[in-house]
Amino acid sequence: MDLMEYQAKELFARHGVPVTLGRVIEDAADAAAAAADLGGRVVVKAQVKTGGRGKAGGVKLAATPDEAVAKAGEILGMDIKGHTVRRVLLAPAADIAEEYYFSFLIDRANREYLCIASTEGGVEIEEVAHTDPDAIAKVTIDPVVGVDESKAAEIVTAAGFPDAAAPVVQRLWEVFIAEDASLVEVNPLVKLGDGSLEALDGKVTLDDNAAYRHPEHADFDDQAAADPLEAAAQAKGLNYVKLDGSVGIIGNGAGLVMSTLDVVAYAGTSDGVRPANFLDIGGGASAEVMANGLGIILSDPQVKSVFVNVFGGITACDAVANGIVQALELLGDQAGKPLVVRLDGNNVDAGRKILAKANHPLVTVADTMDDAAALAAAKGA
Ligand code: GDP
Ligand code: MN
Repeated sequence: MDLMEYQAKELFARHGVPVTLGRVIEDAADAAAAAADLGGRVVVKAQVKTGGRGKAGGVKLAATPDEAVAKAGEILGMDIKGHTVRRVLLAPAADIAEEYYFSFLIDRANREYLCIASTEGGVEIEEVAHTDPDAIAKVTIDPVVGVDESKAAEIVTAAGFPDAAAPVVQRLWEVFIAEDASLVEVNPLVKLGDGSLEALDGKVTLDDNAAYRHPEHADFDDQAAADPLEAAAQAKGLNYVKLDGSVGIIGNGAGLVMSTLDVVAYAGTSDGVRPANFLDIGGGASAEVMANGLGIILSDPQVKSVFVNVFGGITACDAVANGIVQALELLGDQAGKPLVVRLDGNNVDAGRKILAKANHPLVTVADTMDDAAALAAAKGA
């Protein structure tokens, strides 16, 4: 789960990371009272789960409560990289002396944790990474030892941060470990006019596999702001991620679905056709699960064709084929888009016979994954 800035800052505060929490509002009219309470001069910040808000005009300073109302009105409803702004955070405008970049993340390739830190923080950090990579320090962290005092000192020295940053680094590590995060990013971590440090922005990804250890994280779950299709899939217990393209993808097993995304993207290269989603229906692909999955995919207006890619294992192909036929019956007129089905593995012949016998007008059965990808991409153009 990704958190919004104001949620990340709430977590930071619980672990003693210096932040200013401010106020979150959904109605511009509420900005006047909030700004007055916060001391008048405030920053108004779009709360969306994407970066680059500053560059998109989603972060604005306001000198008076009236100006805060005007800026909140401009930002609320704004579209930032496909995310509609429904909430803004108001916080006292900070007196920034320097902006740093800081993050803890998982370095999967090296099976370690990694700290990335730079004194060249702020909205141009991606640019800095390209033009001046030496300005960015990377410090590996032994997962067993973690970030103790000496590691914090090493990070601060490597990055060129002031010494006052060391305790903040240790607090951020506590957030990363205690909250089971896979990413904690602060950009900018600022040095204020008085030399103290403050996390002025926060991006946190929580590891959903550890959610059972954190019942309190459920409060962060933001159904209203989530993609409506993703919310519907979550309610049905499906592993679904909405993407940008036009070919709906449904398969069993995360690895198979990932490679299906690749072959569809490859098959669609010349026409710019791309996958519309990731959907793994898991091992037991019952008719109901198949119907739920197809129902979600087919209700995505961007979807033009669907690729059902199943490898029969414990759940054999004949059971999956029956699932597809029954799902199409359950969906009736809702299933108005072409389906390309590729079945292989356990009981494949029986599965293909079932589909042939049903002879559904929307279903095409392909022999191989590449054939199916090419067909689905052509129908999705
Ligand atoms: P992002 O663009 O989505 O990463 O949003 P940030 O929260 O990082 O804000 C973008 C930029 O706005 C920061 O790098 C700061 O330069 C500026 N900014 C944010 N909050 C304040 C503030 O309280 N005071 C001032 N003066 N600038 C701010
Ligand atoms: Mn930022």
